[in-house]
Amino acid sequence: MSNKLKYVKILTLLFTGIFAAISGYDFHIHRHFKEPVVPSTALTEVRHLSDYEPSLKGTVNDSNIYIFDSGVPGGTALLLGGTHPEEPAANLTALLVAENLKIERGRLFVIIRANRSASTCTRMGEAYPAFYRIKTPWGTKVFRMGDRSSNPLDSWPDPEVYIHYPTRQMLAYMDFRNLNRCWPGRNNSAITERTTWAMMELIREEHIDIVVDLHEAELEYPVINTIVTHEKGEAVAAMTSMTLTAELFDVPLSMEFSPKALRGLSHREIGDHSDAMSLLVESAEPMLDRIRGITDEYLLMTGKDEFVMKAGEHRLLYSPIDERGWPIDVRVGRHSSTFQTMLQFFSSMYPDNQIIISGIPGYKEIIANSLGTYLHNPQEAKEDNVYYD
Ligand SMILES: [Zn+2]
Repeated sequence: MSNKLKYVKILTLLFTGIFAAISGYDFHIHRHFKEPVVPSTALTEVRHLSDYEPSLKGTVNDSNIYIFDSGVPGGTALLLGGTHPEEPAANLTALLVAENLKIERGRLFVIIRANRSASTCTRMGEAYPAFYRIKTPWGTKVFRMGDRSSNPLDSWPDPEVYIHYPTRQMLAYMDFRNLNRCWPGRNNSAITERTTWAMMELIREEHIDIVVDLHEAELEYPVINTIVTHEKGEAVAAMTSMTLTAELFDVPLSMEFSPKALRGLSHREIGDHSDAMSLLVESAEPMLDRIRGITDEYLLMTGKDEFVMKAGEHRLLYSPIDERGWPIDVRVGRHSSTFQTMLQFFSSMYPDNQIIISGIPGYKEIIANSLGTYLHNPQEAKEDNVYYD
């Protein structure tokens, strides 16, 4: 080997090592970044998913379960954020609820990061921002941007074909790590199915009446700005959709039924495998569109993108978009009002199982005052009232 070639090889190795070290450091910071949560004074207890499925103890998915018990008999609701951590309006709405809730009747369980593992990486090859920031009156609050599926570091390898349990429906291999294809789960599989299993055990043991799973979708996808409901949730979904479309939202909130032929989704399996009704809500997130421009924090938070708008001009989208974009305040505002309206109709339809909550800003308040106004400063909170997701 010539000397020159030897030096080229050594230099190549050196540069590769340097770049691997830099990116490895970034990945490490992102994976271990902790998001503080300052629950409202209505908090009665924080449990973990491992309380319902012990094998999750000590794993990345031993997520916090924030429990708000009014002490007054009534119904019980479960709010899920972070099923898909690349959809920030979902975990941000769950956080907003956990930090501001007052509860007068019944109980509310909140999981902000339903699939923590998926929040410790971003989608490979998509150049997602690693973090996003929300401005608050006391400074900037930072959040991990995540992926749709669990981190391969926590679940590897993927099968050739993912065979859904228990129906044996064949699904795409990567859906083995997709929390919303792994319901109802099982306790002897990889981490994603064990996570849904833990939540199913929670739903059954705590006699949850209504589960609401929050999401966001690309505008090119037909299931957007909508509620997808199990048959059991039909009346609640229909009343919520009609009321918010007529009285509050600028863009209609539609409603559709959970298809029986597509398995593994929360709106189907939770309703089929427990006494609870299950509903899923989608808002619009232009950053998820394939046709988007630069994939950065600005697009994630403002939902403004000229390429997505152009697609809209050509009638290629299922949701309207203009130069105002889809700001995070609008998306969280819609989710917040949708969840609260669902509980109102649920409580009026099932008077023995009422869940009466207040204190949570809705669509108009969040757009007028911004989401950050309602997030609490962990530095000023009592030390024993700060939790980390
Ligand atoms: Zn989703």
